[in-house]
Amino acid sequence: MKKIENYIDGKITAGNSSEYLNVEDPSTGETTSQVLLSDKTDFESVVNNSAKAYHEWSQVTPLKRSRIISKYKDLIEKNIDHLAKIISSEHGKTLEDAKGSVIRGLEVVEFACGIPHLLKGEFSQNVGTEIDSWSTRQPLGITAGITPFNFPAMVPMWMYPISIACGNSFILKPSEKDPSCSIKLAELFSEAGLPNGVFNILNGNKNAVDLLLDDPRIQSVSFVGSTPVAKYIYERSAQKGKRVQALGGAKNHLIVMPDANLDQAVDGIMGAAYGSAGERCMAVSVAVAVGEIADKLVENISNKAESLVVAPWTDQTSQMGPVISKEHKEKINNYITTGVDEGANLILDGRNIKIQGYENGYFVGPTLFDNVSKEMKIYKEEIFGPVLSVVRVKNYDEALKLVNEHAFGNGTSIYTSDGEVSRHFTTNCNIGMVGVNVPIPVPMAFHSFGGWKQSLFGDHAMHGVEGVRFYTKLKTVTSRWPKSIQKGPEFKMPTN
Ligand code: NAD
Repeated sequence: MKKIENYIDGKITAGNSSEYLNVEDPSTGETTSQVLLSDKTDFESVVNNSAKAYHEWSQVTPLKRSRIISKYKDLIEKNIDHLAKIISSEHGKTLEDAKGSVIRGLEVVEFACGIPHLLKGEFSQNVGTEIDSWSTRQPLGITAGITPFNFPAMVPMWMYPISIACGNSFILKPSEKDPSCSIKLAELFSEAGLPNGVFNILNGNKNAVDLLLDDPRIQSVSFVGSTPVAKYIYERSAQKGKRVQALGGAKNHLIVMPDANLDQAVDGIMGAAYGSAGERCMAVSVAVAVGEIADKLVENISNKAESLVVAPWTDQTSQMGPVISKEHKEKINNYITTGVDEGANLILDGRNIKIQGYENGYFVGPTLFDNVSKEMKIYKEEIFGPVLSVVRVKNYDEALKLVNEHAFGNGTSIYTSDGEVSRHFTTNCNIGMVGVNVPIPVPMAFHSFGGWKQSLFGDHAMHGVEGVRFYTKLKTVTSRWPKSIQKGPEFKMPTN
């Protein structure tokens, strides 16, 4: 059986721990490899190596760092098909979707190439008589990231390219459900010329996470995952005096106004609700139908969802793959049963889907509920599967109230042809990422990604300028030089 070990000092390194966890192909339910569950000795090897690497990497000029990152970008582009295959085989999403997720991660790598510009501080001449003042941003030291199963390339890439560009070393603790992709990403970075130890991978579960949270040598923790764990990570890291950004779960609402372009709204909802089997933190899980558009909306979604192709990633026609695990499939099926018990109208039931030749795979078919109300559990909680709830409301004010009163605040969207309504919505909704006639408003790498309320604990969103701020400390210098120093003439072009 193939073993997935740690990546330390520029190479795959066998663990001290003898504990491993099975990694499965969700399309077949078969175990394809086993991932190391690191122990304290493995953790020490990683941290000691990261500390050593930080010392030298932080002295490398931002321009030289940027050139290595630029080579890394080229290597990811060359290996994109290979990376997508690794993702699909352990996560189950379609190949095209996996490829798209690598590209979204790659955009952060691209952004990080601009680090010399991004690290420029501010300068004020003569803040006092012959006194100047400037600010600069310096790296933190060893930084850590803990990531979820649903984007094994993209979410880690929200973090480490920026941290490393800023001069930090980075330890990634990937999801134990699909850990292979991060090893390949680390190998490519080494191939691009990144000094050994700047990017290390520590595989494991809660035990490895707790070691990261508690160790005083780790300066910051970036987390993406479910809300209860995000809250735990935030509290425990903060208690240890660390800088922390912890992104949690979601329940994203898409409002369809009576004046919306219905076809556009339905297409948007289809991809956002059922793409990646609903296992996206920006998936739309609630469609809010305003006024008389509701009947047509439900009918059109139902017609399209019925003909959606559910199949393993190896089938080129697949539009939706399996969910991640047997336990998760059971959890989603239980939510569907709960929805029926709560009195919601089950229009499409994905519980009993069978894919020929893949009977042991973790498939759930597209599921659609109508007449869901805000008291129901299926409305309040994150299901993280291909289950869409339609809530009917009378007017825009009711729709906005729903969005604002929900505990999660990751993403939301409105479909309308009324500019005034859309402006009111973008100004007054209580949500971090907002779309207008766009179903999944994921910000580009040069903006920043982050929700509000129970969807983010901490001050900083990820990537973009927020990422640079998170991974650096601000220093402001005030300096008086009444006499200039005579250095003599210099005749060569200054270089970095
Ligand atoms: P998860 O919270 O179970 O796991 C995330 C990471 O935390 C993994 O690396 C895991 O090993 C670790 N972990 C799990 N339980 C832990 C514990 N008790 N103590 C310490 N560490 C623990 O999440 P998941 O199931 O891998 O991913 C799905 C969740 O992630 C969904 O809730 C989804 O909404 C969320 N998510 C959010 C965003 C966002 O940007 N807000 C993006 C992607 C996914």
